[in-house]
Amino acid sequence: MAKKHCPNCGGALDIHPTDAIITCSYCGTSFTPDGTKMKEHFALQVNYSESDALDTLKAYLVKVPGVANDLAQQISLKEISMTYYPYWVYTVQGDVSYRGIDKKASFRGQSGGRYSSIHWEWVAESGHQEQTRQIRLYAGPKVRGEIVNYPIATRSRRYFNFEEAKQHTANVLFSKVSEEAAKQQAIGTTKNIIYSRINRETERVEEAKENFVVTDHAYIHVPIYHIQFTVGGGKTYEAALDASNGRVIYTEIPRTTGFKLKALGSAAFWFILTIIGAAVAFLSYQGIHLISGLDLFYPAIGLTTISGILGILTLYYVTRGVTAERAR
Ligand SMILES: [Zn+2]
Repeated sequence: MAKKHCPNCGGALDIHPTDAIITCSYCGTSFTPDGTKMKEHFALQVNYSESDALDTLKAYLVKVPGVANDLAQQISLKEISMTYYPYWVYTVQGDVSYRGIDKKASFRGQSGGRYSSIHWEWVAESGHQEQTRQIRLYAGPKVRGEIVNYPIATRSRRYFNFEEAKQHTANVLFSKVSEEAAKQQAIGTTKNIIYSRINRETERVEEAKENFVVTDHAYIHVPIYHIQFTVGGGKTYEAALDASNGRVIYTEIPRTTGFKLKALGSAAFWFILTIIGAAVAFLSYQGIHLISGLDLFYPAIGLTTISGILGILTLYYVTRGVTAERAR
């Protein structure tokens, strides 16, 4: 931690050596460690109040299989807070013209519908690939994967409104990724996409003319609610919800004990079948046939495999306590 003074208001801020863009907690100005102010700083608007957020989460949770019918009445809010997460969004237009060589097969010595030899030869290939991609890059400190991979809605961006963040006593996170690093990463990703297509058509690229242009880029903060809730006063569950569009980014699921027991019961059923299948397969392998003259080795192996997979899937389903809304 080191002290840095805001170039706009002079306020002293604690910063970490890895911080690449700092947002002043006194006046809301964003700047780089060398003191350069960022003119283009965007954020998504807060459209959901704390109570809207809780209602949205409840409406989402009651539809998840395995929760109590009266879950909405049982949920009580323990804590809610807002954090602004930083993302870079780059639109990159890339085009690559290339020349290369490709292996082509020719068939020789045809006689009576058969070829006596397959001959491989190298032929010249050339082509052109063009792609425009919007690359989103989470730029903040280490957080859960659901936040890192969250497909933020970039179309509703507007300039960062410090008053709005203050009003919600939000924590505004700093970017660990500089503008230049974000740009290089966005170009690199677009380049990989284009070359993976070219490599499908050409064995070897010998010469390429490439051009990558950034047509749009923005530094955007997304306001996200963190919610802690209990069910009937018991265990604490966690969820995160987009304060701009109300999407549930992730939530732990308060499944009922009855549901978990039922699921465990069916997992046990599948595992018993797995053991029976394995036993029958072993006996058949030893030459012992339960039904005389019928070798059950392969059917038993099949039973073991399928029931084993079903058992594991059922267990996974019971123990997986977190869900995220699918991207729309
Ligand atoms: Zn300031």
